[in-house]
Amino acid sequence: MQSLTVPGNINYFNVELFLLFLYLSIHSGTCRFEIKKWNAVTMWAWDICADTCAIDRNNLNEPSIEYQANPTSNNQNGLSIAFGSCGHVYHMDCIQRWLKTRSVCPLCNKEWDYSKIEKIPGYDQQS
Ligand SMILES: [Zn+2]
Ligand SMILES: [Zn+2]
Repeated sequence: MQSLTVPGNINYFNVELFLLFLYLSIHSGTCRFEIKKWNAVTMWAWDICADTCAIDRNNLNEPSIEYQANPTSNNQNGLSIAFGSCGHVYHMDCIQRWLKTRSVCPLCNKEWDYSKIEKIPGYDQQS
């Protein structure tokens, strides 16, 4: 019966690899293709693929400005990335601060809805 756990682990590992591959191909291939093809809407394509938070202008592979200025456990949201259903991406604490005054996406003015929340890779274990 122990052999049942082994395929399970392998499957999980493969899913992780697949997601990583998907992420890399989106960021390295699809974005450039979209920008070339949709010249008239370059800004839109760039927004979708941007790796910069439009609120604090900091790189989304790094914690928010807020967190870097005050890296405490109270600011843990600065280590997470919030994806909106509109396709725009911000630091979790940046968008939460914004949502206190308006419930729309800062870039496209659509009603804000979280599609997913992820930790910034490499920063999730920092204290
Ligand atoms: Zn931010
Ligand atoms: Zn948006």
